[in-house]
Amino acid sequence: MASSSSGYESLHFVLLPHLAHGHSIPMMDMARLLARRGPTVTVITTHLNAVRSQSTIDRAATSGLKVRLLEVPFPSSEAGLPEGCESMDSLPNRDLLKNLLLGIRMLREPVEELFGQLQPRPSCVIADKNIMWAHETAGKFGIPRIVFDGTSCFSLLCTHRIVESKVYETVPEAEPFVVPGLPDRIALTRAQLPGAVNIGQTDTKDVRDEIRSKELAAYGVVANTFEELEPAYVEEFRKVRGRRLWCIGPVSLSNTKNSSKIDRGNKSAIDESLCLEWLDSRNPSSVLYICFGSLCHVSASQLIELALGLESSNRSFMWVIKKGDYSEELENWFAEEKYEERVKDRGIIIRGWAPQVLILSHSAVGGFMTHCGWNSTLEGVSAGVPMITWPMFAEQFYNEKLIVQVIGTGVRVGVERCMNWGEEDKVGVLVRREDVRRAIEKLMDEGKESDERRRRARKLGEVAERAVEGGGSSYSNMNLMIQHVKEKDKEMTTS
Ligand code: UDP
Repeated sequence: MASSSSGYESLHFVLLPHLAHGHSIPMMDMARLLARRGPTVTVITTHLNAVRSQSTIDRAATSGLKVRLLEVPFPSSEAGLPEGCESMDSLPNRDLLKNLLLGIRMLREPVEELFGQLQPRPSCVIADKNIMWAHETAGKFGIPRIVFDGTSCFSLLCTHRIVESKVYETVPEAEPFVVPGLPDRIALTRAQLPGAVNIGQTDTKDVRDEIRSKELAAYGVVANTFEELEPAYVEEFRKVRGRRLWCIGPVSLSNTKNSSKIDRGNKSAIDESLCLEWLDSRNPSSVLYICFGSLCHVSASQLIELALGLESSNRSFMWVIKKGDYSEELENWFAEEKYEERVKDRGIIIRGWAPQVLILSHSAVGGFMTHCGWNSTLEGVSAGVPMITWPMFAEQFYNEKLIVQVIGTGVRVGVERCMNWGEEDKVGVLVRREDVRRAIEKLMDEGKESDERRRRARKLGEVAERAVEGGGSSYSNMNLMIQHVKEKDKEMTTS
């Protein structure tokens, strides 16, 4: 239920998520969090993306919150995409990314039409950084635009410093360079940089430049992180970006009940009771959970190598293989080798969408092997579990540095370079079974180093919980953000 008479009831936030799980899931959480403070919240997205979050929003609305999900049709055929292809994970290949971006541009008109009909009148738009036209929409309706970047201040600052200094331009691909102007000594190689800053990736350069300039022009930035996680980076990024940076996370902690964790972001491929029964049957902190997010494609040969590494570790595991990664080659191998039979006393494979937050919050989980997507990273931090880092692309190598070097809660599996989207099958095996086994042993063993890592992870999880509770830093930042919008709204209605 919304807090009674917060003074924010007259406000109306409109949220425009990007068409990708990693961007829309935290926005749905944010929608609920905002509505709990009193404002009306409307999320506008396309049909396929709405379906994935409908139950989350419906539950919030049934509990009395003024929150709703509105749909605009996605112009698949006009954008040159197959019917039903309206999110990053549903693209058959990377070449179609530009078509998806074109389709997103075409959404401006129907969204603005909807804007004109909304009641109460919108007071603010919170738009993903990829919805660039929201800048013009906000201008047209005379309301502030807050940009949602979906990553950490550590990552935002890394990108800013690297782009500003161009430090990477003269170093060979595999030679480490130190990122200038950061609170810690962080060394990266050009091979680990996200496509967004790497000079080699020219096909999306114009889009990246536009995103950056529109981001700078926004009224403010809202980030899914919490100040205590990366205080020096929040402070430094505020100096770059200005004071209107609100860290309001981890937003995943708004899912307190199992009923909201089970279908967060998509319909779960495993029955809730089966999942919980299996975890209940394990010892506390004994299970390694493995999931590589919603986008990265991992080749069959790499998955087989991972399977063998997991088996040889002799630890309990719950392994998610996403739709799109299970292929005939992989399934044939599982069948011929009787792999699942061989590991049945300790391992379970989920094929499809897993209820990640539900799993991570179970006391049997003692480690998380992650691709270091920002949401997964923060969900691992929030659950208080140490992590094995296996970055693949985008800003995931930055996140690995944050996990392993800055907060000290992770062990690297040892990947040295980004994979290009669409080239995963060509790359083949980047991580050998021995590397998998070594990382698992290092993370899960009983030694002093691992105990220390576990202790740090647990402590950070507790700090994350406190940040989102009443009076915590993220709770207060959310109020500050709403207060800013309220003042802007007052200015507008009196001018
Ligand atoms: N996720 C999930 N189940 C899955 C795969 C992903 O719940 O089987 C969620 C995960 O909890 C996170 C999001 O999808 O909230 C993935 O975002 P992230 O930034 O970690 O990675 P991306 O998918 O963008 O690479």
